[in-house]
Amino acid sequence: LLQLYMPLNFLGFVYRQIKQSLTDMERMFSLLDVEKEVEDKKDAPDLVCDQASIRFEDVKFSYNPDRQILKGVSFDVPAGKTVAVVGPSGAGKSTLTRLMFRFYDVSSGRITIDGQDIRDVSQTSLRRSIGIVPQDTVLFNDTIAYNIAYGRPGASDAEITNAAKLASIDRFIAALPEGSKAMVGERGLKLSGGEKQRVSIARMLLKRPKVMIFDEATSALDTRTEKDIQQALRDVSRGHTTLMIAHRLSTVIDADEIIVLREGQVAERGRHQDLLTQDGLYAEMWAQQQEIREAEEILAHAGEVT
Ligand code: ADP
Ligand code: MG
Repeated sequence: LLQLYMPLNFLGFVYRQIKQSLTDMERMFSLLDVEKEVEDKKDAPDLVCDQASIRFEDVKFSYNPDRQILKGVSFDVPAGKTVAVVGPSGAGKSTLTRLMFRFYDVSSGRITIDGQDIRDVSQTSLRRSIGIVPQDTVLFNDTIAYNIAYGRPGASDAEITNAAKLASIDRFIAALPEGSKAMVGERGLKLSGGEKQRVSIARMLLKRPKVMIFDEATSALDTRTEKDIQQALRDVSRGHTTLMIAHRLSTVIDADEIIVLREGQVAERGRHQDLLTQDGLYAEMWAQQQEIREAEEILAHAGEVT
């Protein structure tokens, strides 16, 4: 009986594991409001990701046939470099990240990693090489520790704690009665947008994938916390190919190249200083944010005085 029981028990364990991962994936898809329309080609090989250089070649894309979102976007993220994408909301920035993760396939053109069209490789291998801190983080109904370790199962407690610290979420966790074993999500603790972002950043810091994508990853944080985390992000992304969609332009000053996207097209490109000199959309956005920053400083100062 024992002999019979053991394998059944083991199979039950495997089954539960598989089911759990599927549930997580499904949950992620359903919450991201994505149809599961992208399928692997038959016998698709794994992505070979050594250098991790990314190339967008004349990428066009529409969610619905009646409206084209990306109208021929081309750019490179050379191995180990950081390219930032900025632009007005609705320009198609997040769409770029969804295409890279293959939640959708391009309508024409192609995206390659180290020369391989991402449609030709298995999605599992693609997503193993890429980490993303999305604009709206979805957390699983599980513990904070699970949510941080997701993407690198088997991480030690010390590694999880360290990642939490780098992402400035450690003190928040320490203040919880159950610490990192506290449940989050619908059946547990409700986290604020900024707290969710920090959990997501911790996840990325732990996974350290070859390709890192940040989609307005610090937009819900206050300026101070953002500054703290930005340093950790700069450290961890050094030597990793990084695509950074930025909200505050002050965070992209050091990028190797900045792409200004407007209505699905590259309107301007270059380094920070070049773009200021061009005196176009980027310079305009910069001036605008500068005014906001000054206003904030005045307000903060007024707060100190009263
Ligand atoms: P950004 O990140 O630059 O603000 P997005 O890439 O999120 O812009 O969106 C670009 C455009 O695509 C927007 O007009 C948006 O409304 C539209 N869009 C985004 N997601 C979908 C979707 N799932 N179905 C249809 N349209 C979408
Ligand atoms: Mg976006």
